[in-house]
Amino acid sequence: MLDLASLTDLLTKPQKIVITTHHKPDGDAMGSSLGLYNYLIQQGHHARVIAPTDYPDFLSWLPGNENVIIYTEHREEAAALIADANLIFCLDFNALSRINDMGELVGESSAYKIMIDHHLEPADFDDYRHWDINACATAQLVYDFIVNELHHKELVNKDVATCLYTGIMTDSASFRLPNTTSGVHRIVADLIDAGAVNWRIHELVYNSASENRLRFLGHCLANCLEVLPEFNTAIIAVSKQDLERFDVETGDTEGVVNYALSMASIRLAAFIVERSDRVKLSLRSKGEFPANEICKRYFNGGGHRNAAGGHSEHSLEEVITQFKQILPEYKKLLIQ
Ligand code: 5GP
Ligand code: MN
Repeated sequence: MLDLASLTDLLTKPQKIVITTHHKPDGDAMGSSLGLYNYLIQQGHHARVIAPTDYPDFLSWLPGNENVIIYTEHREEAAALIADANLIFCLDFNALSRINDMGELVGESSAYKIMIDHHLEPADFDDYRHWDINACATAQLVYDFIVNELHHKELVNKDVATCLYTGIMTDSASFRLPNTTSGVHRIVADLIDAGAVNWRIHELVYNSASENRLRFLGHCLANCLEVLPEFNTAIIAVSKQDLERFDVETGDTEGVVNYALSMASIRLAAFIVERSDRVKLSLRSKGEFPANEICKRYFNGGGHRNAAGGHSEHSLEEVITQFKQILPEYKKLLIQ
């Protein structure tokens, strides 16, 4: 184990640092990772962000993105950096299975592992933990780590602030989710004061769709949406052929599930997509409904109460059927 005093002491000298985050990184995964990266490099550390897989193009403008290594595309270089690191920061995930086969390399490494995360039920692989399930984003915890644990508020520069703002904005669904407290708004105000240009970040993340993405969204809503009024549930299921027809890229499917949840009566929305290797589910819910419980019990996944994900090795049709068969068990919660 590592206590805060020892970690602070270690960080006073240049270290070899790897920062990594979960499979198919989202705005919070990349925003928190690059926020921490832009903080660490100011102190002379040799830091690299390694993403286990590719991530959406709408995040490629983030400061420091040009130095990110994608593990699946540069395995040897990434493995060498992990083997050589003294410190490995694990951001926005809490079980090594979330970084696929990179998990073995991180697990075997003798580096200190520092987990900064806001997901339930962390696995025990870390040496130092800054973990809070009440945080709206891991980026919020990175801010707290830099400012309140390491006492380096002056190092939250424009680049750090821009990345952390992006993480908080995306994971809080643009400051709409219940965990967007007044404290979060105060942090966001600090980030704007430190140089984050809030309106520009919204433009870059949300107004950067391709024509294909919009036509794909139209197809999802017009042809793939199924509403189950007796369960206040909506499903959007998308086949491999749909993805090919609209030339769907990583990131194009992001947020589609929220349209299903936007209907007044709907308490649970599922986006089920047939990817090349497996079927992936994204669940979103309103109020107390535990979307993560369904993902954990039935679909090898997890997440938060109102936003969770999982996957299955079965066919798309089988997964849709299985999902529908689960609903009666949750009927009481869904119709109250
Ligand atoms: P999304 O639906 O956007 O992929 O994921 C929503 C939430 O569920 C995120 O917080 C993400 O970390 C979590 N999640 C998604 N897929 C998985 C998974 O396969 N396993 C676990 N444990 N969490 C997941
Ligand atoms: Mn997150």
